[in-house]
This record gives sequence, C-alpha cells and structure tokens, in this order.
Amino acid sequence: MRIAVIGAGIVGITTAWELAEDGHEVTVFERRSSIAEETSFANAGVIAPGYVTPWAAPGMPAKVLGGMLSAHAAVRFGRDVWRCLPWIRRYLAACSRPVHEANRRAMQALARYSRERLDNIATRHRLDYEQAQGYLVLLRHERDLERAQGGIRLLQDLGTTVHVLDASACRTVEPGLSVDTPLRAGLHLPHDGVGNCRLFAHQLRALAQPAGVSFRFGVEVMPLDPAEPMCLRWQDSARPAGAPHGLADLQDDRFDRVVLCAGVAAARLARTVGLRLPLVPVYGYSATMPLRDSVAAFSQGPQSGLMDERYKVAITRLGQQIRVAGSAELGGQAGHMAVSAQATLYKVLQDWFPGGGDVSRARLWKGGRPMLPDGPPVVGAAPVKGLWLNLGHGSSGWALSCGSARLLADRIAGRQPAVDDGRLGYERLRHPGRLD
Ligand SMILES: Cc1cc2nc3c(=O)[nH]c(=O)nc-3n(C[C@H](O)[C@H](O)[C@H](O)COP(=O)(O)OP(=O)(O)OC[C@H]3O[C@@H](n4cnc5c(N)ncnc54)[C@H](O)[C@@H]3O)c2cc1C
Repeated sequence: MRIAVIGAGIVGITTAWELAEDGHEVTVFERRSSIAEETSFANAGVIAPGYVTPWAAPGMPAKVLGGMLSAHAAVRFGRDVWRCLPWIRRYLAACSRPVHEANRRAMQALARYSRERLDNIATRHRLDYEQAQGYLVLLRHERDLERAQGGIRLLQDLGTTVHVLDASACRTVEPGLSVDTPLRAGLHLPHDGVGNCRLFAHQLRALAQPAGVSFRFGVEVMPLDPAEPMCLRWQDSARPAGAPHGLADLQDDRFDRVVLCAGVAAARLARTVGLRLPLVPVYGYSATMPLRDSVAAFSQGPQSGLMDERYKVAITRLGQQIRVAGSAELGGQAGHMAVSAQATLYKVLQDWFPGGGDVSRARLWKGGRPMLPDGPPVVGAAPVKGLWLNLGHGSSGWALSCGSARLLADRIAGRQPAVDDGRLGYERLRHPGRLD
C-alpha cells in the first residue's frame, strides 16, 4: 500500500521504518528541515519500562498543588493555563485508582515490548545510540521511601526487576554521586537504561531511506479534507508566516492509508474530519553539556540514568555528555524559557554530580510533551476510513516508540499485535474516567 506518515519525530520515524519492513511504499512528511527537530530533539533519553506511568494518578493533584509554593516545583502553570481547563477536567477524571492502574499496566506492557523491539533493531543493525544500562531512582528522605512502597509492589507484580538499595549501595552503582547530599535509598532497575533518542532517529532514517522510505522535509501538511481524507495537501513551510496562500501554492497526493504522528499538532490536523484529540503540550526543559573530564568521568559523572524523585528531574549520561531534564509546565509557551525551571535542573545536577559537567557549555532546550489527559498513547485506527493514529506518548515517547510502531504496522496489516492494545484506542478518549 502507499502510506503517508505525517511527522518525523521518534514516533513518525519508527512508524515509517516498521511499515517499510512490511513492504509498504512509505512517504514521510515533515515541516522541519530534518527529523527529530521538535519534542524528540533533546529529551532525557530514559528508557525505563518499569517507570513508565500515567501522570493521572490518585493523590497526584494534591501533590501538585502542595508543591506549587516551592521554588523548585516540579509542575508549573504558564499564563495560558486557562486554555487547558477542559484537559485538566479530563485529567482529574482519570486519576481514580482503577483507571490509573489499568492505564499503568497498559503503558508498562507497551514499554516492555518497545524495549524488546528497540533492542532487536539495534542488535540487528549494530546501532550505537549512546545507550547505557541501569536506572536508579534516588529517594532523598524516609518519607520518599515510604511513598514509593506502593509503586515497588506494583513493579514487582508486573515482573519488573527492582532492587531497593541503601545509600552506600547506590554509590556503588553510581560512584560519582555526591556524599554531601542526603540520600535515604534508591530503587535500582538494572534492566532499564538510557539512550540518545535523536541519534537513534537519525540512524533509523539512514536505514529507512535505502529501504525505500521517501522523506519530504520543509512541508507543512494542511488539516485533513473531510471530503477526501486520503488526499493530503501541503505547502512549503518556508512560506512567510501570514502570507495569503492561493490554491496554486498547494501540492497534493493520494494515499491508501495516512498515519498521524504529528505530536501535539495532530489535534488541529484531525479536527476537520471530526476527531477530538485532547492533546496539550506539557513543556519541559533539558540542559546538555560535555562531561567535565571524560577520562575521570567514572568518578564524576553518571554512568547511566538517574531520577531525583523529589524534584522529578532526570540526569542521564549520553556518550561523553550529561543531560539533565525535567519540569512540567502546563499552559506555557514554546519560546519562553523560564529561569526558575532552569535553576531547578542545575540545582539537582549540582546536588548529585557537582563538577561532573561543564555547565559553561550547556545547551538549553525546551520541548512540549504531546500529552493526553489519562496517560497511554493512542495507537490504532481512527473512526475515519484509512486514517490511523500513533500519538499522545506524553513523557514516554522515546520509551514507547518502537513498540507502538510495530503494533500499528501489525494492525494495518490485519495481524494480531504481540501486545494488548485494549486501552490504546481512540474510543477511550471519549470517557477518560471509565474502564470500559
Ligand atoms: C524535557 C523532556 C524530557 C523527556 N524525557 C523523556 C524520556 O526520558 N524518555 C521518553 O521516553 N520520553 C521523554 N520525553 C517525551 C518524548 O520526548 C516525547 O514523547 C516524544 O519525543 C514525542 O515524539 P513524537 O514523534 O510524537 O513528537 P515530535 O517529536 O514532536 O514529532 C512530531 C513531528 O510532527 C511534525 N509536524 C507536526 N505538524 C506537522 C504538519 N502539519 N506537517 C508536517 N509535519 C508536522 C513536527 O514538526 C514534528 O517533527 C521527554 C520530553 C521532554 C519535553
């Protein structure tokens, strides 16, 4: 079949790859000049299936409100938060325990499958995407350890290997951890890890192109035409903003299937064909810098991935670089870099790896997680003939990408996927607080 994929983030590129593997003729449309230029550009790089979890969780709204007065709040509200009110209402409806647990199981099953698929691609094609093994969740105080107990039990129920370590065992796993910052315990997930999402996306593109995938960069696909949703129309994205566009500027082509992988922008593209996708960008920040002294890196920088549970900040080692990432800004703006959010990243890095990275050479980045209110992405058919969705991966798009892509390709081929997709359909969005 001729299949169009809209969006060349990590979700679009993995989708294109799996569809090409199934023998389809695939064209990827991307408004930017290359792949992984938006949210997939500089995320934390964590691939931790055991820790993939919906943000809609019992007790979470109270925790968010309670933390808001702190200078280092993990969740912040931007000036456009009022635009997110319908989304917040749906989020609150999905915070009940049964809904949260069903969503968490669905996400973790997809994440584990995704990890397998990623390993399979990387091994088969000998890819080095700066991967490192092991993920350590840092619990600063006794109360953090107490709060983690429910999560530990759930991880164990799901068959995830998780070791509860004391502070000195944590420092054996991560010898660079500062001894000056109080550390009560750590949760070590030895089978989880990190990898450079953007690097992997570029490597996959290099494999996909000779396999027959065509890329059209610098083109903005127009909202779908309700009369002919399989006929895509697009224009040059370099067109000056606001310039009137005549029909002559538009090009078009017909496909047998169209897959929407356009992140947050998917909502606008699909509204014209009657789809209501409750997607909002939840912005986060990262700072990436070279390890201070890569020879002495063993004692100074991280070995793999860590999460400071108190501040919800991840610190990862990607090759010879350190990346520190976090913050969740609802109703924020893409171009506005909040100084306080950056200060939290540097504080946490300084707490755990003082002098580990060359902060003077840090590159700052802000990206919008394409977030649905309840947690799992939508991977499957849309209620429009020929249209498929692979979107809304929120804070775990890298960790979920390879599995989501294979699942979607299997469904398009009419095959039963290897992972249960009962909670990944579009229909569930109508009632995010219900289990049926
Ligand atoms: C600070 C931060 C840290 C994170 N850390 C992690 C992590 O550790 N692990 C993890 O798994 N995930 C993490 N994430 C989440 C992850 O980065 C995202 O879930 C993932 O990148 C989403 O990928 P995507 O392909 O759906 O979206 P994107 O990468 O945004 O791709 C969508 C693409 O569609 C294109 N597009 C949109 N509209 C059009 C159009 N009309 N025409 C043509 N092209 C179009 C865009 O240009 C874009 O390239 C993090 C996110 C942030 C912000």
